[in-house]
Amino acid sequence: MTPPKPGYLPPVAPLRPMGAISPSRFTGMEACALREVWSANHAPGLTPASPAAWVGTAAHRLLEEAGQGAFNGPADERIPVRWHQLIDSAEEAMQRSWLERHLVPLSAAVPDFEVRRLRAVSRARQLAGESVVSKAALSGWHGAHHGYELAVRTPEGKAAGRIDAVLPGAHGPVIRDYKSGAIHESPTTTRIKRAYAIQLKLYAAIYQQMTGTWPERLEVMALSGEPEAVAFTPEECARLLEDAIGLLDHVNEIVQSAPDEVAAARRLATPAPSACGFCPYRPHCGPYIDASLSAPELRWPGDAWGRVAERRTLGNGRELIAVDSPRGPILLRGLTPGHDRHPVLGWLDVGDQVGIFGMRPGGSASSFTEGQLTVIYVLAAPGPG
Ligand code: SF4
Repeated sequence: MTPPKPGYLPPVAPLRPMGAISPSRFTGMEACALREVWSANHAPGLTPASPAAWVGTAAHRLLEEAGQGAFNGPADERIPVRWHQLIDSAEEAMQRSWLERHLVPLSAAVPDFEVRRLRAVSRARQLAGESVVSKAALSGWHGAHHGYELAVRTPEGKAAGRIDAVLPGAHGPVIRDYKSGAIHESPTTTRIKRAYAIQLKLYAAIYQQMTGTWPERLEVMALSGEPEAVAFTPEECARLLEDAIGLLDHVNEIVQSAPDEVAAARRLATPAPSACGFCPYRPHCGPYIDASLSAPELRWPGDAWGRVAERRTLGNGRELIAVDSPRGPILLRGLTPGHDRHPVLGWLDVGDQVGIFGMRPGGSASSFTEGQLTVIYVLAAPGPG
């Protein structure tokens, strides 16, 4: 298949039923099923992933490998080397995408990159030490299923996932999930994020269905600090799993029975600033566009659609685009010139229809500036070739 031209919106990805619900996806599916169906169908994101997310993925991978015993204890100097390899791989993948190559190097794009590196390497060293001990403990432990990156699935296959670690506790398995970002609801509380607590409870229920054993303890572990317990009861975990499978069935029924994909998308979507703010499918999402136009007073992402009314180069060499949008005129200042950062700037002209996503507020409701995640698509104008 020919890849879409940079700056042009590719065709909307098809909606297909989901095979299984993953514990890490359940709360996302509650927030917006359309986003999760697209994601489960591997629809390509249309806005850049945040550079912090790329670093988080590298950190998580390093911890996985440390837990799986890839290193010879905490002093193994391959741990910091591996961190650099993982970051290099992430940057190579980003370089291949016109959406993300401007975010390389990650060390410049993520303000606290060095803090994250130190924490990830330090935690990986700790896990490398523990994994040597755990291996010995696990070898003499007569629990059912255990280990790192343990694949779990309910018997009928409707819920499945991969648990970071299932370790032996004094009275049964301990299910542990590693997180590369903040684990609390806010900096002023010690309450574990709802999504993480639900994810662990769903793992517990799936694990029980697979092995017949309830875990003794559920834990979340951040890059720094001690593991924190998530309180649970078997009844609530079982109920959550029932809810998750019920939601999967409901969503699949919509996908299969809707007369067409537009109708399915409208039934699946639940646009809201909290759900759409980090959604990479906004450029394709009709329900989001309609909702943000009909309730402009809400704090929607900095996106706009409309006809280019003016384009000019500013005194500082940066570009300005004025757009007549359904919400009124908007101004986007401070655009990086040239078409490396924004391919459409190679040919964009007055009168073209554009969609601009991820703008930063610029001092008034109609004024914006370029941010790290700003992307511009031509919607209905012919490009070169
Ligand atoms: S933009 Fe909003 S409504 Fe549309 S798929 Fe994403 S989260 Fe759902």
